[in-house]
Amino acid sequence: MTQATETFLDQTLVDLQREGLKRKLRLLSGAQSQKITIEGKEVLNFCSNNYLGLADDERIRQAAISCIETDGFGSGASRLVCGNMTAHEQLEESIAEFKGTENCLVFSTGYMANVGIIACLFGRDDIIFSDRLNHASIIDGVQLSQAKWKRYPHRDMNALEEMLEDSAPCRKRCIITDSVFSMDGDLAPLDQIVVLAKKYDCLVMIDEAHAIGVMGKNGKGLAEHFDVEDKIDIQMGTLSKAVGTFGAYCCGSNKLISYLINKARSFIYTTGMPPSTAAASLKAIEIIKSTPQRREQLWKNTYHLNDALKNMGFDTMNSQTPIIPILVKDPNVAVDFSKRLFEWGIFVSAIRPPTVPQNTARLRLTVMATHTGEQINFVCEQFKAIGKELCLI
Ligand SMILES: *Cc1c(COP(=O)(O)O)cnc(C)c1O
Repeated sequence: MTQATETFLDQTLVDLQREGLKRKLRLLSGAQSQKITIEGKEVLNFCSNNYLGLADDERIRQAAISCIETDGFGSGASRLVCGNMTAHEQLEESIAEFKGTENCLVFSTGYMANVGIIACLFGRDDIIFSDRLNHASIIDGVQLSQAKWKRYPHRDMNALEEMLEDSAPCRKRCIITDSVFSMDGDLAPLDQIVVLAKKYDCLVMIDEAHAIGVMGKNGKGLAEHFDVEDKIDIQMGTLSKAVGTFGAYCCGSNKLISYLINKARSFIYTTGMPPSTAAASLKAIEIIKSTPQRREQLWKNTYHLNDALKNMGFDTMNSQTPIIPILVKDPNVAVDFSKRLFEWGIFVSAIRPPTVPQNTARLRLTVMATHTGEQINFVCEQFKAIGKELCLI
């Protein structure tokens, strides 16, 4: 490496360390579950997105294993070349059926889905209205698209309407939003967004990453929760969170999916996902459809934990989901809190800028359907004790 590069890397890392923002990887051994082993210590897991506890489900393991036995592991090529396998198509059919859309296309990850969909649908002559707290993959997709980019304050529908009114005419307009915001746990006002979209002739794209399997009567997401499914043009979501597996989907019309197959570069120029991964997702979707009890338990646990933490005096922001932030502001305090919890056998990660805005460092708890009432009570006791030690409550 050149001397200039060495200096640049050193300086950046030193700065991050000083600001309390340096990150490191923690090693998990064994399966992703409600109890995990981190660096040799068994801890209660309160920070995964595995909301329904499906990541290590026995039926999903078996589905993957039997697919490996028949179809092998790799898919060998892009799906447009010779990598389009039975499991991929079965999964897409099943998701389209579950979501009640004409068609579905699976991507390798949610990040790739957002970047690919947004960059191929929009360009210089288009304009995108995007919630300020949208996920990084949406931001990267918008930037890659080179479309005009208007960011409205988080969930602020008056500001969005002003922007829609003021914007110059252009070829296509689209409002893009996360359904459930990943760091705040609050909800996009989809009921109002679809009204504005109709009034101002906009497309609507939603990212259901934290909503699929969690929100709505049947777990179909926030569009189902607000009963606006037929008013959303592009329904994207990931299979990596509540679904417990890996990959992402885009649901929409036949025409949209056909266009994506031809134009989305993150679909075209990448190898198809391993068929066993698709088979695992197919099984997970089946489980989500047939066992609403898991989702019901997730919500019971969510209310239990959120109510208890709020009653102690913690600021859980505007959380309305199994994502429960505890605002502490100072990144060093967030890290200290997380360390103390870890000593008590509870794993909750500290979320710091740039993942969240300056001065809003927080602990981000996530609830799972498989947490027991006892485990939640234990977490509450420790939060109370540490919250007092750190003068947060
Ligand atoms: C996690 C997440 C993604 C990325 O999904 P991956 O499958 O992990 O790449 C995209 N959007 C949102 C809102 C997310 O929370």
